[in-house]
Amino acid sequence: MKWFYRCPSCAATYDIVPGRYLCDRCAKQQRTDRPLEGVLEVEWEGDANPDTLPLPVEKQWFPPIPVGNTPLWSPLRLRDEFDAPRLWIKDDTCNPSGSFKDRASFLVAAFARQFGVKEIVLASTGNAASSMAAVGAAAGIRIKVFLPEKAPLAKRIQVLQYGAELVTVNGTYDQAFDLSLEYSQRTGALSRNTAYNPLTIEGKKTVAFEIVDDLIKAGSAAADHVFVPVGDGVILAGVYRGFENLIKLGRIARMPTLWACQAEGSSAIARAFAAPGSGSDAFADPVPSATIADSISVDVPRNGVHALSKLTRYAGKTVVVSDDEILSGQKALSAGSGLFAEPSSSAVFSAWLKVRKSIPAEETCVLLITGSGLKDVQSAARGLGLAQ
Ligand SMILES: *Cc1c(COP(=O)(O)O)cnc(C)c1O
Repeated sequence: MKWFYRCPSCAATYDIVPGRYLCDRCAKQQRTDRPLEGVLEVEWEGDANPDTLPLPVEKQWFPPIPVGNTPLWSPLRLRDEFDAPRLWIKDDTCNPSGSFKDRASFLVAAFARQFGVKEIVLASTGNAASSMAAVGAAAGIRIKVFLPEKAPLAKRIQVLQYGAELVTVNGTYDQAFDLSLEYSQRTGALSRNTAYNPLTIEGKKTVAFEIVDDLIKAGSAAADHVFVPVGDGVILAGVYRGFENLIKLGRIARMPTLWACQAEGSSAIARAFAAPGSGSDAFADPVPSATIADSISVDVPRNGVHALSKLTRYAGKTVVVSDDEILSGQKALSAGSGLFAEPSSSAVFSAWLKVRKSIPAEETCVLLITGSGLKDVQSAARGLGLAQ
């Protein structure tokens, strides 16, 4: 098997080496306050063993920490309550740092080990930073993170607890993003910025493989619908990549319907999907984000153009939920299933509640729950009326 990066817009290919992030040609079209242009995908050529998970970094470089293989389980009381016999939860709160982001951090750290890279730098709204710090601690790689000051306390504490270096940015995530890129260009540290480093997308595809395998093991029909929380659109694109790989390998026959779940106060991808333009033009009018769901709160979605092209190609769907719906969904999910999810992931449950009647009962729905509720108890406290 030969692995390489491929630009989904212009089909240019590149070697997978440190320092390669975007497509040279397409990145030239970058405009300010727009999603990234030239986001690359990982691709392979040649025979792949259909029974193994294809990844561009070999197992010997994997960091010693158990990321992924999270439980897929049936929330029986929710199934009863909502008459949804084929509802499943993919519980990625069980990852070591408590979020889905560990999947991306894991592959980026494996790549760093393969090439002897000693330092990884990133900007984050919180979870990517705490995740990279955790995986970096296991792998023995120095981690430097740029976090906006409004990141929830638990996420900042995690970063420090895992021994990473924290730079608090008196500004937005976008400013943190620019500072971290500047640092990476100046020092040669590997950037783990979401979407910018193509391995962040590739690392997230593993969840699609697990969903397919676990549903088979459970004797269930294949997934018809997967509900995904969406901020920058990297998880969404990663899940699409996973299912694309599975189709390429002949493991599944067709793409499930992916539901991009967004908060009303941060819904750039849903708006772009509904807008007439395509590509970057669909993101011409950025709106400052305002939602309690910090992990999906972005002004300009970094992977917007790429994610939008996937939604369009596969006729995906978008759902937008309000902060009130997120908070009431968070409570209903916890009390009805025993799972305490952070607001970004409660948005997935709330989104499913909103559209579930449009889905035939015999179709299989998987809710991707990406982050633990303990990461942001302040928001839950608001939902419970314990805080403003
Ligand atoms: C980052 C994150 C998301 C959103 O992922 P994007 O790739 O930004 O769309 C959702 N849930 C959690 C818990 C996250 O940390």
